[in-house]
Amino acid sequence: MQILDFMEANGHEQLAVWTDPGAGLRAFIAIHDTTLGPSLGGTRVWPHPTEEDALFDVLRLSQAMTYKSAAAGLDFGGGKALIMADPRADKTEAMFRSYGRFVESLGGRYVTTEDVGSTPYDLAWSARETRHVVGLPVESGGSGNPSTMTGYGLYEAMRAAAKARWGSDDLAGRTVALQGFGNVASSLAEHLLGAGARLVAADVDPAKVERAAARGAAVAGVDEILAQECDILAPCALGGVLNERSIPALRCEVICGAANNQLLAPEDAERLRERGILYAPDYIVNAGGVINVSFEVGREYDQGAARAKTAQIYDTLERVFAMAEERGVTTAAAADLIAEERLAAARAARA
Ligand code: NAD
Repeated sequence: MQILDFMEANGHEQLAVWTDPGAGLRAFIAIHDTTLGPSLGGTRVWPHPTEEDALFDVLRLSQAMTYKSAAAGLDFGGGKALIMADPRADKTEAMFRSYGRFVESLGGRYVTTEDVGSTPYDLAWSARETRHVVGLPVESGGSGNPSTMTGYGLYEAMRAAAKARWGSDDLAGRTVALQGFGNVASSLAEHLLGAGARLVAADVDPAKVERAAARGAAVAGVDEILAQECDILAPCALGGVLNERSIPALRCEVICGAANNQLLAPEDAERLRERGILYAPDYIVNAGGVINVSFEVGREYDQGAARAKTAQIYDTLERVFAMAEERGVTTAAAADLIAEERLAAARAARA
């Protein structure tokens, strides 16, 4: 695949490359679309085996951010950065300072935050070199770990999905199966327990299993959780878990979880529809994190405003379900249409 052809075919605006051998930094920043505003997205630190793998990963991830922000009603575009390094071994202050200069060189067209392999503390180093970084630690005036808001948004999404499925958004007595009991799932669990839901959880990390059990969740094996009998299945660990193999075995009525890219292939949305399972599209329901950091861009972070905007995930998901019904498409396709229509309207207004 040729990079420029790939970018043109997928509507990418810009790809920036930076090397700084003295700081051990090799990085890419992909800016997919800035129609709605500056591009916003996290910095992934990952040791991809080849540059080509890294490039296509960062390009695809930046496109996904355009859709996530557009559908969430944010005035931000999609961007993503990738530092080719091992997050467990290679991270240094020099690396993140150099990376900050890279972000600064784009003059605000890209605003960064944490992602897989990076932390608010890594980015606090970058913040010494650029203003265009958000999601900084609370003690540095930032919004801190976004998982709490992501968990809250996911809870609002579950209520909207319950209303669409069962006619009421009351989750009392509903059983929710959680694949993964990490940061987002544990924040979600607090809301669910408060609403009177029952939890079943599985995690590969025994300490997380213990934490879930201490909160009153029943425990399931990691190989059993997807096929657990439940009302709502919440994939909160890995991508690609909904696929040709797992879908026939599902015993849930609704899927609503935090993990990115839950569908392994686009056809899996149709497979779920055929099985009569209501799928709440991942990037609609897990937008709380990006909504939260967006309230830090160019202003003092306002948690109340971020929470009010995150609560609107409920309304967005209702629109997704209504559009899927009206147009006879899957909920995943309806989510994409909502994002694309907002982008098209903004482009038309500009023209
Ligand atoms: P996390 O690392 O805190 O939690 C993930 C948990 O999944 C861990 O406890 C891990 O042990 C467990 N796990 C890994 N493989 C598993 C398996 N095969 N079976 C069961 N459990 C397994 O991550 P998080 O911040 O809670 O995020 C969860 C998911 O949501 C990720 O896919 C992430 O990309 C996505 N997401 C997170 C945010 C956020 O704000 N944190 C925002 C959007 C999307």
